[in-house]
Amino acid sequence: MSSASLHNVLGLAWDNSYARLPQRFFAPARPAIVAAPRLLAINDPLARELGMEPAALHTPDAIAIFAGNQIAPGSEPIALAYAGHQFGHFVPQLGDGRAILLGELITRSGARVDLQLKGSGRTAFSRRGDGRAAIGPVLREFLVSEAMHALGVPTTRALAAVATGETVLRERPVPGAVLTRVAASHIRVGTFEYFAAHQDVEALQLLASYAMARHYPQAREAEQPIRTFLELVLQRQARLIAQWLHVGFIHGVMNTDNMAISGETIDYGPCAFLDAYHPETVFSFIDQQGRYAYLQQPEIALWNLARFAETLLPLLERETGSQAAAVDAASRVLEGFATAFAAAHLEGLRAKLGLTTAQEEDAALAQDLLQAMAANQADYTSTFRLLAEAALGPQHEGALSALFRNPAEFSAWATRWRTRLQQEPADPTGRAQAMRCVNPAYIPRNHLVEAALAAAEHDNMAPFEALLQVIRHPFAEQPGREHYALPARPEQRVRHTFCGT
Ligand code: AMP
Ligand code: MG
Repeated sequence: MSSASLHNVLGLAWDNSYARLPQRFFAPARPAIVAAPRLLAINDPLARELGMEPAALHTPDAIAIFAGNQIAPGSEPIALAYAGHQFGHFVPQLGDGRAILLGELITRSGARVDLQLKGSGRTAFSRRGDGRAAIGPVLREFLVSEAMHALGVPTTRALAAVATGETVLRERPVPGAVLTRVAASHIRVGTFEYFAAHQDVEALQLLASYAMARHYPQAREAEQPIRTFLELVLQRQARLIAQWLHVGFIHGVMNTDNMAISGETIDYGPCAFLDAYHPETVFSFIDQQGRYAYLQQPEIALWNLARFAETLLPLLERETGSQAAAVDAASRVLEGFATAFAAAHLEGLRAKLGLTTAQEEDAALAQDLLQAMAANQADYTSTFRLLAEAALGPQHEGALSALFRNPAEFSAWATRWRTRLQQEPADPTGRAQAMRCVNPAYIPRNHLVEAALAAAEHDNMAPFEALLQVIRHPFAEQPGREHYALPARPEQRVRHTFCGT
């Protein structure tokens, strides 16, 4: 294969700005050659959005690039350095141990995106790991990140998944795969922690300037750029976590190295969606303490942001003139998280309840529904979806109240809700329609994801492809696919998810 034929496969120009940062930001890397690349999935809609020609991505040349067997001309593969707090404990060096940044592509609309291979072999940061990925986690990230995108939640995306034709050893031998990931960037809270741990203030300044230029250009114009940068990162995280809660998403491993400065959801590991609503829900097998439980996520985000703010203190000190002023500025910004999160959370809950005006009682109304759901093991997604039907009138409430162990508890709440709706424009049909646009019918339900991954491990991609099509249109009615919207039966329920790394 000539590099001339490879040249236009991706059809976009490279501009590898991260590779132009000083050498201590990364280590050169080389994707491992794999035995027998086989295409598992290409994200055609994403390819189109980026300005690539989807058909070109299904060719052997493209598959060779996604497998790591060919380096596209213009790509400069590197592994990024970062640190991180894992389950609260600081690890001064983590880094891309099983990921390689191929470089940055300029999309047709002029945006800059990272193109990264995940699972393409060892790097300088692999420690004892093999640098590989198994087919299950690769396809889980593909599915769930695509679902999140369709749900309107900022996220990294998967462009391709390729089986390697090799076996990786996890709890058992499993087929290996490589994921090609597209991200606004891969700068993490942990990237800042890495340089803070080295007391490398020059690198911190460079990294902050770089991140601002890439994600928060308005901060550079501000009177206090670093304080503004912190503020903007915090605002985006507050919104992001609120959106996670709205769709019932549990990330599972909110370590500081898994929090992106861009505000995208990143690093899908043992993530899952709520089935029955309960605020303490945890799926990740390694999260025995429930540190990253569903409703812990806002608190953990703030904890992570506090670690981020600490890394910025030397820069804030320059900006404010003293250490005390720097600490004061950081604390004030962090104090704003609770308000920012509460506002974003309530705004989304109002929409989920079909409320377009704001009333004092709305937060309590929403909380009381959630409380009734928790007490009655009501399915999170179905409850809100059926609430759109109930908005048409009490006679449409039957299927919804049946989701509650004690249907009377729903009915009691619904009476209050209907009273509140009297303060809204009298348009039940419009309200139901608006609610269907924020309360999804289809999410990647855990039992369907597990079934799709299990089939893929045995070379049957049909369940994966079918589920992918369904979750790409979460808000639409999809006749004939109603069973994808149903909660798991007790014997289907997934109780634990695994990192599988
Ligand atoms: P993550 O689970 O993605 O948050 O990864 C945490 C850290 O472990 C990162 O530094 C990864 O690069 C590293 N890591 C995870 N799995 C592997 C693997 N199979 N080989 C090498 N490093 C890994
Ligand atoms: Mg990670």
